[in-house]
Amino acid sequence: MEFDLIARHFTRPAPGAVLGVGDDCALLAPTPGMELAVTSDMLLEGRHFSPQDGPAGVGHKSLAVNLSDLAAMGATPRWATLSIALPAADEAWLTAFSRGFFRIAEAHGIELVGGDTTRGALTIAITAIGEVPPGQALRRSGARAGDDVWVSGHLGAAALALAYRQGRLFMEQIDAAKVLPALYLPTPRVALGIALRGIAHSAIDVSDGLLADLGHILEASAVGAELDFAAVPIPDVARAYLHEPVARDCVLAGGDDYELCFTAAPEQREAVLAAGVAGGVSVTRIGTITQARGLVVRGADGQPLQIEKTGYDHFDE
Ligand code: ADP
Ligand code: MG
Repeated sequence: MEFDLIARHFTRPAPGAVLGVGDDCALLAPTPGMELAVTSDMLLEGRHFSPQDGPAGVGHKSLAVNLSDLAAMGATPRWATLSIALPAADEAWLTAFSRGFFRIAEAHGIELVGGDTTRGALTIAITAIGEVPPGQALRRSGARAGDDVWVSGHLGAAALALAYRQGRLFMEQIDAAKVLPALYLPTPRVALGIALRGIAHSAIDVSDGLLADLGHILEASAVGAELDFAAVPIPDVARAYLHEPVARDCVLAGGDDYELCFTAAPEQREAVLAAGVAGGVSVTRIGTITQARGLVVRGADGQPLQIEKTGYDHFDE
């Protein structure tokens, strides 16, 4: 039963591996001279996704969040393992889940080479492995005073969708429909991360909210930052709701956007814009790294905003 299930839903050719699914271990031969970038992310139903996201959405998102970590490191995706606990062997669910999983896997050239399958409350744990040339990984610790702070894409859509779904923010249905896919169809910025090798000084993916994630860069780099709230790129539909404090929180402190936040020297502006083109996503300058520690967000009047919520804490209730 378990082996049928693995054979049907999780076994695909893996030409980039020496040996894929089916033995006690997968065998992988890294490209000579490359460093391996390894990341794991676990997703629990009710906490990281909802049954409303649908199984294909869950398959997509569970791999997307891991690809996003590879992207934030500037790594090229190679292999993944998938450990999954399922309450029941639901064929229709598994078919849709693996369709969502393999669609994004193929789009990013990552191969499923192993995993574990067991009965239990729906939980998905993925380990993704990528490669990066020695010394070129985009670490959190490389930001320097004077760097520009950049983000890719737009921020806030996923958090707005969650706030809408949870009844914390009223949105017109036509607007809600525009942000809801951000919750279960995030796009990992893999090509951008690769294009930023040798250009960005530091990078992180925005999974817990801009302020919290940029805060990790500031901490690791022992610097501070000043951001211009008006410069932060938000989805067009969000503008009509920005007068609501909860909507502003979604932009600055909302999680689950999976955009990249990174820093680079001002001399690299042209190169960063070219990396955005290569990565197929807009890149926007939102502030500056400062010698003075701390994170200040200035409003349109130049005055610092009072920020209450800075990000998603995994141990908050
Ligand atoms: P073992 O008992 O040796 O750990 P398993 O019976 O758990 O092996 O798994 C058999 C094979 O199927 C292994 O190659 C394992 O990596 C693979 N596998 C199990 N579950 C999954 C999954 N959900 N996705 C991909 N491969 C899986
Ligand atoms: Mg096992």
